[in-house]
Amino acid sequence: MAAGQALRRLSGGVRRASLGLLDALLPPRCLACESEVQTQGALCPACFAGLTPITAPYCERCGVPFAHAGQGEAALCPGCRRGLPCFLSARAAFRYDAGAKRLILPFKHGDRTDLALPLARQMARAGAPLLARAEVIAPVPAHGRRLLRRRYDQAALLARALGTLSGRPVLPDLLRRARRTPPLADKGAAERAATVDGAFAVSPRGGAAIAGRRVLLVDDVMTSGATAEACSRALLEAGAEAVEVLAAARVPDPRLRDG
Ligand SMILES: [Zn+2]
Ligand SMILES: [Zn+2]
Repeated sequence: MAAGQALRRLSGGVRRASLGLLDALLPPRCLACESEVQTQGALCPACFAGLTPITAPYCERCGVPFAHAGQGEAALCPGCRRGLPCFLSARAAFRYDAGAKRLILPFKHGDRTDLALPLARQMARAGAPLLARAEVIAPVPAHGRRLLRRRYDQAALLARALGTLSGRPVLPDLLRRARRTPPLADKGAAERAATVDGAFAVSPRGGAAIAGRRVLLVDDVMTSGATAEACSRALLEAGAEAVEVLAAARVPDPRLRDG
């Protein structure tokens, strides 16, 4: 029995090693399309140019990109002017547009878990001060049912990759869904907020782990910020000192599209 087990383990090891070898022999491919690139894990120039990194001006609190510099004079977006979120700041690497979807959708739904690290690198760039201040990293928890269907949790993969890049501890099970929530996709900002209010809870052991500490909350796509707000409130109520939010992509606020 032990010999059979050892053999299986060995053959698994050989398979992994030969896959690695294959990677080394085949020309590296772009992460988003099939074109050849110089180095493994890179984007081709066309796919890279299709991404829109979020740069100033943006809301200094929630990080939502402004459409032009004039909107940045107030420093805060309309939503934050009406009421500040309970997280201290939020940042994202890219606008969630057609270019970003070419990376995010295969990562979310296409088993492309290899995209976690390259996405996390861009998040680490966009959220460098947040990552530097963070004492604990935790993902927005996935829906249990959706998690089963997908087999992996993309926010947790991003959190782990950010932990690897920063050396900060990652608590993948810190937050959990306290109740089921319907999909938010077709809902407006106010309806989203009402839907997720109180939907998240800190695990019983998690409270001790975050008491008095700064938590970096990680998600793949930030839309209205309602989920980030609900998670942040749960973390603060459980004793976190402060919460900041880092996402791979950010849906621009429709109110900021023009004017
Ligand atoms: Zn490409
Ligand atoms: Zn804002």
